[in-house]
Amino acid sequence: MTVPEGRVRVLRDGPVRAERDYVLYWMTSFRRARSNFALERAIEHARALKKPLVVFEPLRVAYPFANDRLHTFVLQGMAENQRRFAASPVHYFPFVETEPGEGKGLLEALASSACVLVGDDWPSFFVPSMQAAAAKKLEVRFEVVDSNGLYPMHDTERVFTTAHSFRTHLQKVLPPHLMAVPREDPLEGLSLPKLAALPRRITWARAPKDLLAASPAAIAALPLDHSVGAVKMVGGSAAGEARMKRFVEHQLVDYAEARNEPEVDGTSALSPYLHFGHVSTHQLFARMVRQEQWHIEKLGKSIGGSREGWWKLSPPAEAFIDQFVTWRELGFNMSSHCPETYQSLDSLPTWAKATIEAHAKDPRPHLYSLQQLERSQTHDPLWNAAMGQLRRTGWFHNYLRMLWGKKIYEWSKSAADALHAMEYLMGKYSLDGRDPISWSGYFWVLGRYDRPWGPERKIFGKLRYMSSDNTAKKFEVKNYIATFAP
Ligand SMILES: Cc1cc2nc3c(=O)[nH]c(=O)nc-3n(C[C@H](O)[C@H](O)[C@H](O)COP(=O)(O)OP(=O)(O)OC[C@H]3O[C@@H](n4cnc5c(N)ncnc54)[C@H](O)[C@@H]3O)c2cc1C
Repeated sequence: MTVPEGRVRVLRDGPVRAERDYVLYWMTSFRRARSNFALERAIEHARALKKPLVVFEPLRVAYPFANDRLHTFVLQGMAENQRRFAASPVHYFPFVETEPGEGKGLLEALASSACVLVGDDWPSFFVPSMQAAAAKKLEVRFEVVDSNGLYPMHDTERVFTTAHSFRTHLQKVLPPHLMAVPREDPLEGLSLPKLAALPRRITWARAPKDLLAASPAAIAALPLDHSVGAVKMVGGSAAGEARMKRFVEHQLVDYAEARNEPEVDGTSALSPYLHFGHVSTHQLFARMVRQEQWHIEKLGKSIGGSREGWWKLSPPAEAFIDQFVTWRELGFNMSSHCPETYQSLDSLPTWAKATIEAHAKDPRPHLYSLQQLERSQTHDPLWNAAMGQLRRTGWFHNYLRMLWGKKIYEWSKSAADALHAMEYLMGKYSLDGRDPISWSGYFWVLGRYDRPWGPERKIFGKLRYMSSDNTAKKFEVKNYIATFAP
């Protein structure tokens, strides 16, 4: 097997059942046919056993926040997967529920003919508990594979509490992992026996064409929250790869200066594609280092966690890699190692809990209800515009997310209320919400990964403070406000 063993966790032990009909890959998070260690592991099992491979990609209707926006994006990805698998011997089975619970029993029925079940090791939202429940019930060996990032989540047991300490660690341990990459196109030249048909007991129908085409009429017929509409951004690996190419070839060069400018299209906007697994950071890394004509021998010795200088890439590439490797994978480190607490206020550093507690009773000059926040009904035009961009486009800018979160804290009765508001608004409207780094962001607002700041202020105490006035002084925001004002 070529997939590194350190990326594989066995959720249900047992022998591989060679007498059964096929290998089953349950695709829930790495929704792509390329650069995917989980798919590669399933292929390796199928080749070793000389069995067909079934890729099962389901979409339920009753998960939290299920709405037209999220469904459309995921369905566009499923349509692309169907195209990619159609040209291979893999049996691709896309399944979309049309009513809650319709898919109940389907995985079990599929797994009962499987030699081995492979799944995606993704440490957030409902995925870990859904997989744990499956592992208890299904009578088949069940492996989950980590294809989240450049650094395998379970390579270390340590939980990192600052980006600096995680960067220091990566500078020591990452190089060998950069050599162990998933195959860009594991379907290329793939030879496997083809499955003539799924077993007869699989009476569930594959998703019909109109649903896979994400047709508005088909989506309107599903029991979803239709108040959150589809957006312009198109889901799927092809769209994600095109965006990645455009960003790396044309925009990366200005990333370091442009990334904080709300009025400039200066970042990759790849977060929705990374979130749904339509593209991988391995693909992004490979494309970037090709562009930069970089090779691994260029890597320097560990430089004690400094942000720049270790990779020996251009300054904008180093700034970008610090986001999609250090900061992104820091969030995966926390959620994979602290599944019980990464979404809880208890996980905050001691100083942050103390300062929040000390200022809990400070009067709040502005208090807004969740509904007022959701409708952009605050006194702050920049904040209202940021919320407007999120509501209308399903994505918004990193610098404004920081400001957005800080103001929610300032305008809420408590840290718990602020956390709830951030989880709700991002979960509902953001294509990239419900991700390990969603909780990194919400908790960064409340002090995680940060340090105490002075002077101590009302409400914030020693938490880092941000204001819309300062943001407007630093960056052009007039057009942004005009564009996204409610
Ligand atoms: C309050 C708050 C909430 C957030 N919620 C989410 C969320 O729900 N989902 C989400 O994906 N990101 C979230 N972030 C992190 C960050 O804002 C977004 O990842 C980024 O703005 C996405 O835009 P981009 O793809 O153009 O980023 P780019 O600047 O192009 O960066 C490339 C990738 O690096 C990663 N990245 C960038 N910034 C960060 C960061 N600060 N922390 C961790 N990873 C980062 C993302 O995967 C991103 O797609 C949040 C940040 C804050 C402060």
